Amino acid sequence: MWTAELVAHQAACDCGWRGQHHYAPTEHGENLAYEEWDRDHLRPLLDAEARKHTVSAETLLALVRDVRGSLHETVDDQGHSALTQRGVGQIDVVERLEHLLDDLHRTRQGFDEEAS
Ligand SMILES: [Zn+2]
Repeated sequence: MWTAELVAHQAACDCGWRGQHHYAPTEHGENLAYEEWDRDHLRPLLDAEARKHTVSAETLLALVRDVRGSLHETVDDQGHSALTQRGVGQIDVVERLEHLLDDLHRTRQGFDEEAS
């Protein structure tokens, strides 16, 4: 007499998490269970972890100010201060960061308007 040992696939994780659904005892069912684990368990975990480590705009702003305050300058032939090659590179990075912060600020305002 032969008894099917496997009646269904159910997503499960070492940490104790269990999937909501039972899938056919086929390879396709196994894939579906895996997808459920990936979508409903792993990704939310990773997202939550990523959110914890988000660099705040405040930190970025401090960095921008810091770099702006320590630009590599030199004195040219006429005795005027000028940016060195490295200083020009620093300005480039700083401006990109400032644009990024502006974009984030605008996006945030958009969310706030939608929410109200
Ligand atoms: Zn888990």
